[in-house]
Amino acid sequence: TPVMAIESSCDDTACAIVTTDGRILAETTLSQSGHVPFGGVVPEIAARAHLSALPALVRDTLAAANLQPHDLGAIAASCGPGLIGGLIVGADMGKGMAIALDRPFIAVNHIEAHALTARLPGIAPNGAPFPYLLLLVSGGHCQCIAVEGVGHYRRLGGTIDDAAGEAFDKVAKMLGLGWPGGPAVEQLAREGDPHAVALPRPLMGRAGCDFSFSGLKTAVAQKLPTEVRTALSRQQAADLAASFQQAVSDIVIDRLGHALEMMERPTTLVVAGGVAANGVLRARLREFASAHDLPFAAPPLRLCTDNAVMVAWAAIETMHARRDLGLPIPDDIAMRPRPRWPLSEMAARMTVDDT
Ligand code: ATP
Ligand code: FE
Repeated sequence: TPVMAIESSCDDTACAIVTTDGRILAETTLSQSGHVPFGGVVPEIAARAHLSALPALVRDTLAAANLQPHDLGAIAASCGPGLIGGLIVGADMGKGMAIALDRPFIAVNHIEAHALTARLPGIAPNGAPFPYLLLLVSGGHCQCIAVEGVGHYRRLGGTIDDAAGEAFDKVAKMLGLGWPGGPAVEQLAREGDPHAVALPRPLMGRAGCDFSFSGLKTAVAQKLPTEVRTALSRQQAADLAASFQQAVSDIVIDRLGHALEMMERPTTLVVAGGVAANGVLRARLREFASAHDLPFAAPPLRLCTDNAVMVAWAAIETMHARRDLGLPIPDDIAMRPRPRWPLSEMAARMTVDDT
């Protein structure tokens, strides 16, 4: 059965149709450009842009899948965490369709969707069976998580200040690379020497697997000329970008080493979230995994950053896991989107019959 999903938690408007056995029938993603002059996502602009883009996007996605609305078996949407205006727009679009078509509406946790992406058929070499060690590195999150089952996420450690993507975005801003920053830093770093600039690696070597990036970000700021920031030559900027990327990768690898010791026999090392699109980090993670004899799974780039395929897949995994427990498909028509929705609350979904 095809499941349609909508993603509108931040600045990407996305729609996808995925079958319950994990075949992607259609996927569309629109990255909003209205935020560029502001150097970051403006929530009110984002919500309005989702509102104007979604109806046509939904129609185009159905057409691309060569399906009629009544072919859909369920409708899902990201209902948090994220920017509340956009979440309301996406959830209400999904609920409206669910009511009109008389199908269940499934509310998806956006972070859970990132966390389960690697289980889509064809991504992980082994299908990423539970339990696996997840490194979640996105715009708003940076955590090591033991994924023990659908709904069962044990946080091993996380950032005590900035998220990894946030650090990339701030460094991009300092270097005048505009927004969004991660891909721009990576591109510039290709021309630079990762060992050119000495930068700190906060918390590296410490017990546990917490992260800290704010000191690294400040150190990058201190390498910039105070007056005219554009006075940095292209080579200097590239060296700084490459050194920053190297520092982030060193930190992540060190922290993961500790996370691995905090978990019993993970089947796989999985990376997820927008920063997982970074090529240098991916290469280091692959190396780390093979050194520890762990299969490694990273989604293709378009499924690392925000997308609706992962939302559909999380809805499907939830349906299947509940079915295995003798529970019906969730019907979340009355659920209000939540700006905050911790993963620790997802276990309740696997025990409570909420219909
Ligand atoms: P969250 O999922 O935590 O709510 P989000 O949805 O805004 O946050 P994602 O879309 O998962 O975040 O990721 C976006 C982040 O990924 C941005 O901070 C962006 O700079 C970063 N990013 C994207 N591509 C790259 C890259 N190639 N290298 C480094 N960072 C990247
Ligand atoms: Fe995201």
